Amino acid sequence: MRCAHSRSASAVMEAEPSVILQNLFETLLAAFGPQGWWPADTPFEVIIGAILTQNTSWNNVTLAIKRLKAKDLLDLSKILKTDPDTLRECLRPSGFFNQKTRYVLEFCRHVHHHHEGNLSAFLQQDLETLRKELLSIAGIGPETADSIILYAAHQPSFVVDAYTRRILSSHGLVPSNIGYEALRHYFMDALPPNVYLFQEFHALLVRVGHLYCRKKPRCAECPVRSLEMKEPSEMRRLS
Ligand code: SF4
Repeated sequence: MRCAHSRSASAVMEAEPSVILQNLFETLLAAFGPQGWWPADTPFEVIIGAILTQNTSWNNVTLAIKRLKAKDLLDLSKILKTDPDTLRECLRPSGFFNQKTRYVLEFCRHVHHHHEGNLSAFLQQDLETLRKELLSIAGIGPETADSIILYAAHQPSFVVDAYTRRILSSHGLVPSNIGYEALRHYFMDALPPNVYLFQEFHALLVRVGHLYCRKKPRCAECPVRSLEMKEPSEMRRLS
């Protein structure tokens, strides 16, 4: 005789990804409330934050952004006019600051050369054109590009990260080695292209990943535990 949980688990195995993801979103929203991402005053600040957050903590990004604000440098044309050493010093707290200085400058030069410095015009391009253009700029990979599209351009491109992969693969919904584009499509094929939904869903997955779905998961306290997804895999429970 199967237990109640295994009955619900097998029902979920047959459920469509759209149903599973909608349930997951509602569970996370009920547990944590709206996250209101991205914490920034302007689209340009979102973009700089998205570039700087690679391989560092958000606290370090905040410190770098504070330094930029203190020098009134959170502006595309002002960054291009400033001395690169001043910019480098502002970005120092974000780690890998030489590389990130180059990436920030590359982005600003791109918008300056290809869009006459008009950031709004750049962000208002259609989603596929914007994504392709972002991915052509040094230092902007898929996660950074999708963060910019979703939180600065307010267009529906789902952002996935290591937490997303870990949470979904732990419940057997996707393979643990699924690539970025395939995982992004898993969400985008299943969900309506709604900017609010995509913004909140990504932020909520980061929240649950940060608090519970760590390398050593805290399943017993995690709100996803009560959701009728598949049971966390044996391997995750033992890890
Ligand atoms: S229940 Fe466990 S495996 Fe699932 S998301 Fe929470 S911490 Fe991760």
